[in-house]
Amino acid sequence: MRPETIALHHGYTADGRASTTAVPIYQSAAYEFESADHAAALFNLEVDGYRYSRISNPTNDVLERRVAAMEGGLQALSVSSGQAALHFATLNVTSPGTNIVSVPQLYGTTYTLFAHLLPKMGVTVRFAANDTPAAIHALIDADTRAVYCESVGNPAGNVCDIEALASVAHAQGIPLIVDNTVPTPILSRPIQFGADIVVHSLTKFMGGHGTTMGGIIVDSGKFPWAEHASRFPMFTEPDASYHDLVYTDHFGDAAYIGRCRSVYQRTLGSVLSPLNAFLLLQGIESVAVRMDRHVENARKVAEFLRDDSRVEWINYTGFPDSPYYGLTQKYLGGRACSIMTFGIRGGLTAGAHFYDALSLIKRVVNLGDSKSLACHPASTTHRQMTSAEQLKAGVTPEMIRLSIGIEHIDDILVDLDRALDAAFPARVSSYIGNSHLSRPTAAQVAIE
Ligand code: PLP
Repeated sequence: MRPETIALHHGYTADGRASTTAVPIYQSAAYEFESADHAAALFNLEVDGYRYSRISNPTNDVLERRVAAMEGGLQALSVSSGQAALHFATLNVTSPGTNIVSVPQLYGTTYTLFAHLLPKMGVTVRFAANDTPAAIHALIDADTRAVYCESVGNPAGNVCDIEALASVAHAQGIPLIVDNTVPTPILSRPIQFGADIVVHSLTKFMGGHGTTMGGIIVDSGKFPWAEHASRFPMFTEPDASYHDLVYTDHFGDAAYIGRCRSVYQRTLGSVLSPLNAFLLLQGIESVAVRMDRHVENARKVAEFLRDDSRVEWINYTGFPDSPYYGLTQKYLGGRACSIMTFGIRGGLTAGAHFYDALSLIKRVVNLGDSKSLACHPASTTHRQMTSAEQLKAGVTPEMIRLSIGIEHIDDILVDLDRALDAAFPARVSSYIGNSHLSRPTAAQVAIE
């Protein structure tokens, strides 16, 4: 099945008691054992089944199977947020004294985790000068345990060359971990291009309605942990915290996700509630059609902003002059994502007026809602960074990030047009009414 169909059907078969078409919500913390022997067998991982919902749950299982299949992965682990997903995903391959090499264009809290929290656990993250394979390669050493990137960076919008980054990582015997939140598997499937582990904030386009926090880690099942046992002994040596289980022996190709569940999910928690798994499954059912509309609306918004002389610059990878245009063709099938950034003439002050004047488009830090959203990263999501760090992550002071929703395009454009007018009070709202249909020329704006 194709991802569009998998999103609706995969991973759930009615159990016969009631042939529900919707996935049931198993709102239960624990599961009854048939006997002491059955309980022991479950705890020894000798039989399949459920013990306690911090470890697994039937509703969450469907979500895990479904997203794993959409990504072309082997297995997945759902967690309470995207942040928990990338935290577990990186902890699972590291130990004190080791490092991760990352591209610099990252979501702000990912950067905080990498720059401030992981180092406190003895794991350093080396931020490359840019997202090119050469810059990543330059930082890898014998202690590196993973290469990390966002398939499409938030908010920088850069499209990473997954195939090339995977080659660089694999040549050094380490995996490539990719955050695929922004494109979703509908636009891009990193495992197809060599990524080993894919993480998601399901809170965004996957869930799609801005109602539900969730995250997931997908294991491709392809990284040969046993071949690189000296770097990754956690998978190949007996684990004293789990009665000496050897993950590669027990879980085979699914050793990575098996350990992630058995060690991090079991001991650190960050569990996704079954109700949230259900809500995310509802959202995922329509992700393909929503993405079509997101992409189509975003293109029209990008063209509107590009052609508007009140706008100083726009960063949208669907334009042939974008440095990421080629990678957009390769990894996104030419369908540039619906997050874009831009700056209006007049810099920070005009940008603030514009932002305050938005009406339909909501001022929030989220992205990937079905509603259109706007964010000012420098003062919100990336506020914890210094100005230099912000610039490296692709964040400039005046920059506005848009996440274009699925409303009627004309309503989105009218809202942008009015807010742009508000940013230039002297010009009054002479363009409202005919809105985007007749743009002022650069000369007109200069005169005004
Ligand atoms: N990854 C990316 C690319 C994000 O944009 C976000 C949140 O904005 C996260 C991870 C964290 O996800 P969550 O908010 O679900 O914890």
